[in-house]
Amino acid sequence: MKKFITSLLGLFLILSFFLGAETKDNDPLLIKVKPAKLTPLKQEAFSWLDASAQDLDKLNDQIWSYAETALQEYQSSEALASYLEKMGFKVERGVAGMPTAFVAVYGTGEPVIGILAEYDALPGLSQEAVPQKKPVEAGQPGHGCGHNIFGVASTATAVAMKQVMEKNHLQGTIKLFGCPAEETVVGKVFMARDGVFNGLSCCIQWHPDSGNEVSLGSSNALNQIEVEFFGKTAHAAGDPWDGRSALDGIELTDIGLNFLREHLKPTARIHYVILNGGGAPNVVPDYAKAWYFVRDIDRETVEKDYERVLKVIDGAAKMSETTYKVNFISGVHETLANRAGSEVVYSNLLLVGPPVFSPEDQSFAKEIQKNLGVEEKGLKTDIEPFKLPEKSWGSGSTDVAEVSWLAPTTALGIATAPIGTPGHHWAEVACAGTSIAHKALLTAAKVMAATGVDFFTQPEIIKKMRAEWTENKKGKEYKSPLSSDLKPPVKPKK
Ligand SMILES: [Zn+2]
Repeated sequence: MKKFITSLLGLFLILSFFLGAETKDNDPLLIKVKPAKLTPLKQEAFSWLDASAQDLDKLNDQIWSYAETALQEYQSSEALASYLEKMGFKVERGVAGMPTAFVAVYGTGEPVIGILAEYDALPGLSQEAVPQKKPVEAGQPGHGCGHNIFGVASTATAVAMKQVMEKNHLQGTIKLFGCPAEETVVGKVFMARDGVFNGLSCCIQWHPDSGNEVSLGSSNALNQIEVEFFGKTAHAAGDPWDGRSALDGIELTDIGLNFLREHLKPTARIHYVILNGGGAPNVVPDYAKAWYFVRDIDRETVEKDYERVLKVIDGAAKMSETTYKVNFISGVHETLANRAGSEVVYSNLLLVGPPVFSPEDQSFAKEIQKNLGVEEKGLKTDIEPFKLPEKSWGSGSTDVAEVSWLAPTTALGIATAPIGTPGHHWAEVACAGTSIAHKALLTAAKVMAATGVDFFTQPEIIKKMRAEWTENKKGKEYKSPLSSDLKPPVKPKK
């Protein structure tokens, strides 16, 4: 009897394996896309990219070593802008009131195809291109989101597309947007408010990833503010009744927000840090400052949440008998994905294939994984299936969302970081300065350039993308979350 049950169990396991495989294949979220065809024009773009690989790698490593944070990217933006100028683009620097933002243009007339480039680093992530934690200089910034690869691959895409257009007398315009300060969710928001992205037929962008994929997912809308409280100082033991604590203002705000959470939709995300909470416990602080993020599923919901957050701040000021000032830093929309455009990107990803990493690249990645206590799987060598997004319980926010409301915008992720390692981490900085980054940037540029060729030569694709985009906007027009007089938080050159 026992034997019978065991074999029955075995049969069940075998059956469920096949049924499981069948379910996977019949995944209702799966979108079937065929690889794009290799046309002579795409071959021209690929040949230019292959021939320019050494220059591009150098540019990648240069920006990696600059590792400049948000709105400090003076050398990084200049490196890309001057390269584009040398390659025949007309460059306008200092757009939207930010010295490190630029637009590089080639060609005239329609279609107008935008490409986004980012290049800001993250504070505190300084790291050598080695597989164990080893800062170049402790406490200094590093490219923990791979934006050096991002900037160079996008720049390479623009130049490769220009070579094809020029040689084949194609009509249209390429606009490469040098977008600073993505990490502080600032750059593209100001550029969008000031009309820098107006008039685009569509826009192409990518991001370094741990997989090779095209995602149709969205991102959370966001408002970020700094709140300053002003009180009255006093001896904390001698005459505390004469003092009014600015820190109380912050703490009561935070308590209020933590009670508010229960009465917000589960999609809301509120987080904060205290930037200044006073100097010493025996002095009643007359000044305190905190930084808040309010996120939710879409712009309208964030605005509603935000109104309630403002009431809590006001209430905290009343309770602590302090005054306060809210400094609006920036806000973004939720991202509008574009399936029609993303299908073209995915078909070109299938054509180009994932980056081909060398055994040395893989052992570098595995060494990192070993040091982080993560399974030693190396780097991704396959392509993720193209799927409709699953219902999500929240995600980060990006200023790419602003562009997605101004033109249909495509997405792409290419593996630059070892599987299972965290983002915004020294592991990512290390990989971004090695041949792993070089292979990823070439792959990303080929996929995007081939997509650009399809957009230039098949006007029906852009028509389809724009029809879907118009429908997705549901009659809403882009309205900047920023007031018209708000200035970007520009920092002087160091
Ligand atoms: Zn990033």
